[in-house]
Amino acid sequence: MGRDRVSELYGSLVFTDADMQDRLPKPTYKELRRTIDGGMPIDLDIANEVAHAMKDWALERGATHFTHWFQPLTGITSEKHDSFICPKDDGSVLMAFSGKELVQGEPDASSFPNGGLRATFEARGYTVWDPMSPVFIKDEVLCIPTAFISYTGEALDKKTPLLRSEVVLEQQAKRVLALFGKEPARVVTTCGPEQEYFLIKEEDFQARPDLILTGRTLFGCEPAKGQELEEHYFGAIRPSVNAFMKEVDDELWKLGIPVRTKHNEVAPCQHELAPIFEQGSLAIDDNLLTMEKLKLLATHYGLACLEHEKPFEYVNGSGKHDNWSLSADGENLLEPGDNPEDNLQFLVFLACLVSAVDDHADLLRASVASAGNDHRLGANEAPPAIISVFLGDALSPVVDALIKKEHASSRDREQIDLGIPALPDILRDNTDRNRTSPFAFTGNKFEFRMCGSQQNLSDANVVLNTAVAEQCDRFCDYIAKRVKRPEDFHMIAMRFVRHSFRDHQRIIFDGNGYANEWEQEAQRRGLANLKTTPDALPCMVNEENIAFFERYKVLSASESRARYAAAAEQYAKLINIEANTMVYMARHMYLPALFNYSGDLATSIATKAEIGVVSRAERATLDALTEGIDTIYDTVGELEAKNDAARSVCDCREQDERYRDEVLPCMSRLRAAVDGMERICGHDWWPVPSYNKMLFWV
Ligand code: ADP
Ligand code: MG
Repeated sequence: MGRDRVSELYGSLVFTDADMQDRLPKPTYKELRRTIDGGMPIDLDIANEVAHAMKDWALERGATHFTHWFQPLTGITSEKHDSFICPKDDGSVLMAFSGKELVQGEPDASSFPNGGLRATFEARGYTVWDPMSPVFIKDEVLCIPTAFISYTGEALDKKTPLLRSEVVLEQQAKRVLALFGKEPARVVTTCGPEQEYFLIKEEDFQARPDLILTGRTLFGCEPAKGQELEEHYFGAIRPSVNAFMKEVDDELWKLGIPVRTKHNEVAPCQHELAPIFEQGSLAIDDNLLTMEKLKLLATHYGLACLEHEKPFEYVNGSGKHDNWSLSADGENLLEPGDNPEDNLQFLVFLACLVSAVDDHADLLRASVASAGNDHRLGANEAPPAIISVFLGDALSPVVDALIKKEHASSRDREQIDLGIPALPDILRDNTDRNRTSPFAFTGNKFEFRMCGSQQNLSDANVVLNTAVAEQCDRFCDYIAKRVKRPEDFHMIAMRFVRHSFRDHQRIIFDGNGYANEWEQEAQRRGLANLKTTPDALPCMVNEENIAFFERYKVLSASESRARYAAAAEQYAKLINIEANTMVYMARHMYLPALFNYSGDLATSIATKAEIGVVSRAERATLDALTEGIDTIYDTVGELEAKNDAARSVCDCREQDERYRDEVLPCMSRLRAAVDGMERICGHDWWPVPSYNKMLFWV
């Protein structure tokens, strides 16, 4: 019997473990596995054999080129295609691919953001094969996941620090587990990114320079209908979207990406896609590929996929929940079991997490800061900009009791009585969902919910991994200093847990994160509320944070500074582009349209006056238009001047603040003026599709 369709296609474009076993001599395969599983360096002979097998496999699947696939500081992926061809003297070609080409590439690094790490005259950069992420074929190109570093070995990408943070977390978690008598071969982070996005008609997208140039609508008056009826969430998926989603599933399955869940989201034409979790860095590679495929495949259905955090005002924006846990040879270290109060190992890791989030809340906040995400955080649709941890009904009592030195007993999972005998009995989960918490314990993993939909989760995970590693390190030191006899371990470890929860109690909050009172309460607790990117980013370069990443060899001081500079610069650049786009649209589209409409009205008024008809409505509308046109005209000039002034500021921190305090408010005023005119301008004169049309397409 043949295999089912999905099993047949799953992973067919990936050089999988099965392909390696098939095509590599046994000793070579074993060596390669040592690299993949054990993190051992690979030698060139082995790399040559692997490259040869990969090439044959790829050629059989129609590949003509290969590329080192990497993640520069832009956050998206980059590729440069090289063909396998090697011309021979007789005029024919050989298809060749060497171990050296597999292991190392040398793209010109000068045109990628580097935050000042290199001058352009030292343009050399290297890409280095990451054997932990499998190679795959995309559009006839063999793609090799790589890390991207400078000539001097400094990270120029998102992946290098992520891998370093995974290494240090593994080391430290293994030290903790050793104290529990365990010696797992691997401890890895697991990550399941839930991806939100919008789908609109491609023709609408193409008619909006703001969507094309900035990913979000910079203008648009409130639609007649928003998301208030709540009928879109989990609603039946319309046929064209369904067809799109099916192709997405197929294409991602071919790439071995375990996508599982898809549904309509809260906002009109908003959707979500979630995979089954994978090892952290692999999950992030797969998420980046997912984002690329979503955009590309949408065009097959006359649709455009919007991945910006806030494509539309008045309805929810898009996030990317970072579900995160730790796994030791398959054992989930955040699994509380039936009696978490007696599960010391779980309590130690939980305590480490809570302390990690409290100690490094500033860096976590910075890791999700971007011009796009500023529109979500704190806007009553996403968690607030204040970092806190939600533990839920099952764990909070345990933690409270521990702090009070009482013995806690966790609630048994209750049966829910439905009163309908025909329906099966169900058990209540041990945590309810809290959708307002930025960092929520959801049964056996944490969900970091502040990440933006277009962000690369590496930034968040680098902070999280390193911060948890630090706490594991602290635990091991604590035990080493205090435990003199093995029988004391339990008591002293429990004391560590208790003290950690006591000292970091302020970060635990199970209430409604959207409530205004929480903002005041958080302030009383001394928790930071960094509302905007310019508030959040500078902590990346304070002394303790630089030292923290240096201590764990995740980022050197110059790498930290470079990352800050690149992020700060990106904020300024994005707002500059938005301001430019607004000026362009106002001058070239909105004003001319309004001139036409008001001109036509004026003609009509004049014509009617000749036969003695006075139209009060036309007159009032013309007056309003004239006033609005003048306001737009003036505000465009003002925005242009403010943007020019901000652009010429040299210090990046000062520049970001200038964009936030001067340019953004002016952009809001311009938008308000234009949106006011959209409300009264005739439909046939208005130059771009409205929110009503874009959000409720049929
Ligand atoms: P919820 O509906 O509460 O968000 P789900 O079970 O649907 O939870 O999971 C959401 C995401 O979390 C999925 O991508 C899933 O694979 C991921 N996930 C589940 N368990 C883990 C884990 N141990 N580590 C990381 N991610 C996980
Ligand atoms: Mg979720």
